[in-house]
Amino acid sequence: MAGIVDRKSREEIKMMRRAGQIVAEVHALVRENLRSGISTFELDELAEAHIRKSGALPTFKGYHGFPATLCTSINAEVVHGIPSKEAILNEGDIVSIDVGATYRGLIADAAFTAGVGEITEDLKNLLIATEESLFAAIEQMREGRYLEDVSGAVEDVNKKYKYGLVRNYGGHAVGRKLHEEPFVHNFRTGNQGPMLKVGSCLAIEPMFNLGGDDVYTAKDEWTVLTTDHLPSAHFEHTVVVTESDPEVLTRLKSD
Ligand code: MG
Repeated sequence: MAGIVDRKSREEIKMMRRAGQIVAEVHALVRENLRSGISTFELDELAEAHIRKSGALPTFKGYHGFPATLCTSINAEVVHGIPSKEAILNEGDIVSIDVGATYRGLIADAAFTAGVGEITEDLKNLLIATEESLFAAIEQMREGRYLEDVSGAVEDVNKKYKYGLVRNYGGHAVGRKLHEEPFVHNFRTGNQGPMLKVGSCLAIEPMFNLGGDDVYTAKDEWTVLTTDHLPSAHFEHTVVVTESDPEVLTRLKSD
């Protein structure tokens, strides 16, 4: 695919920046409340209340019928886990928290994975490597680079640490719709893809597994799990190409 990754206007980016701050605030709120004994349903309620109080809408709720504000994916769950009163977090678990907010019609989308209480060294290292690959990909979000550079940056970090890599899911352009073209693979495809220009916005989201690459979808038709049932980590930011350094719209800005 040639061409360029769709460029958002200054006004659109302003709204996405606000949406991104609301997403970052939800991340902080969920982190504060992550503890053994809490259900993912309770986290979802906190997240939805914060988004609505901020004058935004929970992007995921109702998206293709998804029933909640957050995707909460525990341990072997990779992405798209549905918050539930029965899903109680336990010491030693890792959980991916993914959330989107829509502010005046514009969307920001981000995820993090964190441990509940103390987690094993293996899990800590998995989280560090996955987040490192996200930062490496963000570094490629510069005018004149190509989509393949972003994908390749994730792949290189994944190979360095020899983790499993989720291939069936990935990032996406984002703006007025949650999932816009192009899809962002977490590995090189052999095509340079469209060029990045000032105003191009991508949600980049690497997913690394402690075991193999393969995943499947559960009977609920949402939750994606690793086939070997080993833990998986997921980090995501919404990023815009600027005239200087990449701007991470979903990073909490201290005022
Ligand atoms: Mg996303």
